[in-house]
Amino acid sequence: MNLDSLRSKSGFICDMDGVIYHGDCILPGALEFVDWLKSEDKKFLFLTNSSERSPRELKEKLDRLGIHVESSHFYTSAQATASFLVSQRPGGSAYVIGEAGLTNALYEAGFSMNEINPDYVVVGETRSYSYEKIERAVNLVRNGAKLIGTNPDLTDSMGKDVAPGTGSLIAPIELATGIKAYFLGKPNPLMMRHGRKILGCSRKETAIVGDRMDTDIIAGIHCNIDTVLVMSGVTTEKDLKKFPYHPRYILPGVGDIPGL
Ligand SMILES: [Mg+2]
Repeated sequence: MNLDSLRSKSGFICDMDGVIYHGDCILPGALEFVDWLKSEDKKFLFLTNSSERSPRELKEKLDRLGIHVESSHFYTSAQATASFLVSQRPGGSAYVIGEAGLTNALYEAGFSMNEINPDYVVVGETRSYSYEKIERAVNLVRNGAKLIGTNPDLTDSMGKDVAPGTGSLIAPIELATGIKAYFLGKPNPLMMRHGRKILGCSRKETAIVGDRMDTDIIAGIHCNIDTVLVMSGVTTEKDLKKFPYHPRYILPGVGDIPGL
């Protein structure tokens, strides 16, 4: 496969888990890929569907793995949610079930927290989840607050175990209210569009790199951006046949992009 046109792109939007690292282990070729992005002066953004950690905490995680990039290179579903909500209702308010990464992103976008009559109920992944919070969220949504999920993931990988993800945590609120949540994060193409705007690259100049067909690749296709599937994460050769669409490039890992 000729990778010249991929290598000549000026912007790279990269998923992280299954692409750069798996859990707390850096994947082969990831360090060299990031060094290549830096030495070739590429614009790049690491995208994550997780809304739990702030860009600074993600930067610290990569620092621990030996990859050093500024926190401005990270974009989370919490930030995508905050940019969407502020475009819909500048200066709005939210009742949040989630972690600091989410509340911080909303505060930074000029939102306030409100437990009485918020414009939105926003749910992200969290371990501080309780009956009282669900009960409050259900009644706020019944009273007119819009229900928003930072990402639709049903589970999050925890090494060999899984944790219930945002999609699972928000389900009781949807069931009790009869109202379906609107989800930001991949596969919603809004997240890629925001990411590309941050990079300041055109569609043609940008590539998206990910390990999941049903989130990374489909979001890239919806945005008309060239897609790179890496086989270092969740997708197997056999899985590829199940999808009605295919990525532009299929590579063993990100180390193959600079051709190492
Ligand atoms: Mg991934």
